[in-house]
Amino acid sequence: MTKKTESYDVVIIGGGAAGLTAGIYCGRAKLKTLIIEKTLVGGLATYTNEIENYPGFPDGATGLGLMELFHKQAKKFGVEFKLTDVKSVSLEGDIKQVETFRTIYQAKVVIVGSGGKPRLTGAKNEDLYLYDKGISFCATCDAAANTGKTVMVIGSGDAAIEEGIFLTKFADKVMVSVMHENGKMDCNEIAKAQALANPKMEFIWNTVVDSFEGDERLNTVVLKNVKTEEKVPVPVDSCFLFIGYLPNTEIFRDILDMNRGGYLLTNERMETNIPGVFAVGDVRDKYLKQVATAVGDGAVAGYGAEKYVSECEIFEKQIMNEGKSSLAYIYNAIDPQSRELLPVFKEFEQDHSDIRVSCIDVYKSDGIAKRLDVESTPCFVWIKDGQIKEKYYGEITPERINSICK
Ligand SMILES: Cc1cc2nc3c(=O)[nH]c(=O)nc-3n(C[C@H](O)[C@H](O)[C@H](O)COP(=O)(O)OP(=O)(O)OC[C@H]3O[C@@H](n4cnc5c(N)ncnc54)[C@H](O)[C@@H]3O)c2cc1C
Repeated sequence: MTKKTESYDVVIIGGGAAGLTAGIYCGRAKLKTLIIEKTLVGGLATYTNEIENYPGFPDGATGLGLMELFHKQAKKFGVEFKLTDVKSVSLEGDIKQVETFRTIYQAKVVIVGSGGKPRLTGAKNEDLYLYDKGISFCATCDAAANTGKTVMVIGSGDAAIEEGIFLTKFADKVMVSVMHENGKMDCNEIAKAQALANPKMEFIWNTVVDSFEGDERLNTVVLKNVKTEEKVPVPVDSCFLFIGYLPNTEIFRDILDMNRGGYLLTNERMETNIPGVFAVGDVRDKYLKQVATAVGDGAVAGYGAEKYVSECEIFEKQIMNEGKSSLAYIYNAIDPQSRELLPVFKEFEQDHSDIRVSCIDVYKSDGIAKRLDVESTPCFVWIKDGQIKEKYYGEITPERINSICK
């Protein structure tokens, strides 16, 4: 099958909080922007019943409600959406390619906001009972179906305990398997106190899942005591796994730099190791994975994308000057010496109407300097016949410029 090709300024992979925010910034900057989302626009946050710590919502918000607002705002700024899975990427060079089943999307900038997926326990028979067969990862989605029933939660982090508390509004009994000693949990102290005081919650300490058992559907979780090795079958109607997440970065392996856990490495501008490729949100190696920080990442990358695209245009049209002669003076406005040389280049420009002269301040933006591979300032670059002929770092005088640029 021949795939069709479509072109955008920016393609964003993943329509979670981070991708949507990047989209809002890019759309508002009038960049032609596409968000590709493989499951549900809104991402992981839509699975969360209550988000109480996102600023601006003193009465809390449902994850779904909050993400619908993000989505609406992105659409308002003209961002386009495609519901499909990104299969592969080719990110080197000025035009990047993002490939789905039917289409190859070309873009000047790619923003990766592909988040993570739930970690599995690895216990026996787990794959037999995933999703609608009894093992769930989403209390919001599956709590109502467990009204009056007995459920088990695996884990003791914030997500496990907060979602466990939410489940008690529906289920008669919520048993929590915790791998730590009695009383030790990984969640915040407020959630811990609330959970321990909740009469519907029961804690089974020092345990991990040994196997999942049932017929068509899960009906028993066999727990193993990590100290005594004793195995205890616990009858349940459903089991909710909240034991962490793994980054969705398989398609970026050997392309983008990542840490040992597979999380993408960026600098504080959300730039990856490839120019024009940014990473945002939970997919990034970062200290705190929350909606508020995903939004911050998205804003930074959206801003950076706009700068990158405009620098691409300046580079092609002005600096490379479509094959005609061009002189670029790269300086730093906070360095008085390099600032004082500006009139020298203005004068050269007046005397040479056939040469395009550009003065580029790296203090404002270092993108053009990076593209020209300029190591330090002040420096001037002489470009002729579409090629960089000289990068000059020595003492700059009118004579020196005249002798090089001809
Ligand atoms: C149970 C739970 C409770 C939470 N509670 C809170 C809370 O109270 N407050 C808070 O601030 N945060 C909370 N969080 C964390 C918050 O949900 C995340 O930090 C946030 O959703 C991260 O956003 P993101 O855009 O980086 O990633 P995600 O929301 O994970 O979005 C990534 C998106 O990328 C898509 N994707 C992945 N691969 C591809 C591909 N190849 N092609 C196309 N699309 C792809 C995915 O389908 C997904 O929609 C909670 C998380 C969980 C799991």
